[in-house]
Amino acid sequence: MTPVDLCVLGGGVTGLGLARLAARHGLSVVLVERGDLVSGASSATSHLLHGGLRYLEHGHFALVREALRERAALLRMAPSLAQPVRFLAPVRRSDRVRPWKLRVGLALYDVLAGSGGLSPHAWAGGARAVALEPALSADGLLGCGLYSDAVVDDARLGIAVAEDAAAHGARLMPQAGLVSARPASEPRGGCLLEVRRADGALSQIAARVLVNATGAWSDATRRELLRSLTPGEPDPAPRLAPSRGVHLVYPALTRSHAVISLAADGRAWFVVPFAGRSLVGTTEVVVGSPPPAEAALPTVDEIRYLHAATQRLLPGAGEPRPLAVYSGLRPLLAAEVSGGAASREHAVFDDGAFLSVAGGKYTTFRAIAAEALRHVLARLGRGADRIDDRPVPLPAPAAGEPEPQQAGADAAERQFALRLDDVMRRRTRLWLRDDRGLGVAAQVADGMARRLGWSPERQREERDHYEHLVHTEQDLLARALAAHAPLHDGART
Ligand SMILES: Cc1cc2nc3c(=O)[nH]c(=O)nc-3n(C[C@H](O)[C@H](O)[C@H](O)COP(=O)(O)OP(=O)(O)OC[C@H]3O[C@@H](n4cnc5c(N)ncnc54)[C@H](O)[C@@H]3O)c2cc1C
Repeated sequence: MTPVDLCVLGGGVTGLGLARLAARHGLSVVLVERGDLVSGASSATSHLLHGGLRYLEHGHFALVREALRERAALLRMAPSLAQPVRFLAPVRRSDRVRPWKLRVGLALYDVLAGSGGLSPHAWAGGARAVALEPALSADGLLGCGLYSDAVVDDARLGIAVAEDAAAHGARLMPQAGLVSARPASEPRGGCLLEVRRADGALSQIAARVLVNATGAWSDATRRELLRSLTPGEPDPAPRLAPSRGVHLVYPALTRSHAVISLAADGRAWFVVPFAGRSLVGTTEVVVGSPPPAEAALPTVDEIRYLHAATQRLLPGAGEPRPLAVYSGLRPLLAAEVSGGAASREHAVFDDGAFLSVAGGKYTTFRAIAAEALRHVLARLGRGADRIDDRPVPLPAPAAGEPEPQQAGADAAERQFALRLDDVMRRRTRLWLRDDRGLGVAAQVADGMARRLGWSPERQREERDHYEHLVHTEQDLLARALAAHAPLHDGART
């Protein structure tokens, strides 16, 4: 069997970014994802391409500068999926951060953005800020900092990265499970993997280099691989401290601005305008590593907490009800590994038989890919000094809202969609419709069926599955927001 240069485990934006860059550098690449592409953290974000304003307080200037550079690159690479957005940052009498401090921070943020800067920061007094966004609470409001970041369609940008990887020869295998791994006998190492494909058949993959890019599940994957590839060694200590983050999706709560607010513990949370809706989040609940099976699921307490915080921040928005909830697990490096408080910084680890890459944020996936590729090229014995990562355009989605049947057909044909919810949730914005896309799900399934050869029974199963997902979510929201429900103190925003 001819080995491929690189096999990547995990089809989030980290794994896809590496697969794309490696394929663009002429490597033969296979990527194995156990679910849908970008079905983990990479479609559960706050939808921001940002430098991370709050890192400035901790002096992480290089991290912020790198992320702002990446923000600028991605705005150029995917203008239909990422656009600048203007933020309001309210400062109230009771806040720890004083107006002068925020203004210094925003000025620094502009400077660090350099030539990739967006509209520069400004200051609006309380009355002007409320005039800009009338829903905003005027209670103790001293004013708002105004600054710019970018909002991104996280799932569809990830899929565009996947399309680009495939266009450069990478073989992407979604819904494929790793069955076994063993060391290759050839002197230069590598490994032999057995993978169960989406169609149920087994595939053998010989890979010169294997990279574990499985996000919050990185410790679990590493343990499984080490047990197979270097048996007899004790299980390694975890490196990650993953945390769950929940978002609520509301009808638009603001006119046009995003809002950043500080939670009691100093963490930032956001109201982000996206596709005519407002995304509100996030919470941060530590889940342990490897995460237990249900760790990614949102809880009633988190939903209540976010809903109450939204009403306090934007009382003028009336009493809107969230129409959707989503959550994901951040693949945060543990403090011992990242060398300080848990941060979004990433690391590439040499695990002997394979490499692991974890941490970072969505915004910096290209920088993470470049660093991981350097390690891969070094293992392959190739020069790693000339990585070409110019911000060339990514494949753009069709303009406008495609007709549902066509959307299903296109997603199955070109975008690796194998289940109906892959299309409803991660290839289109149909899940954000008032009816959550249920009215057109049958047409989407029909379009997919034509490409994937689904029987009528399979189409019905897919529709039932999507309906079940939506109804489970609606039930959870209804339970969480039931009148007079007690608010437990089990979640922090
Ligand atoms: C609530 C929340 C909000 C966030 N907001 C932002 C934001 O606004 N901006 C920003 O820049 N970043 C944000 N982030 C961070 C960002 O989402 C992550 O850093 C990034 O998406 C991580 O990508 P990943 O590919 O490493 O992980 P994931 O996207 O989780 O991908 C890992 C993949 O590995 C797969 N996998 C697991 N085990 C196996 C296995 N054994 N075999 C094969 N596949 C496997 C999983 O199915 C998954 O698809 C946020 C994260 C969260 C959770």
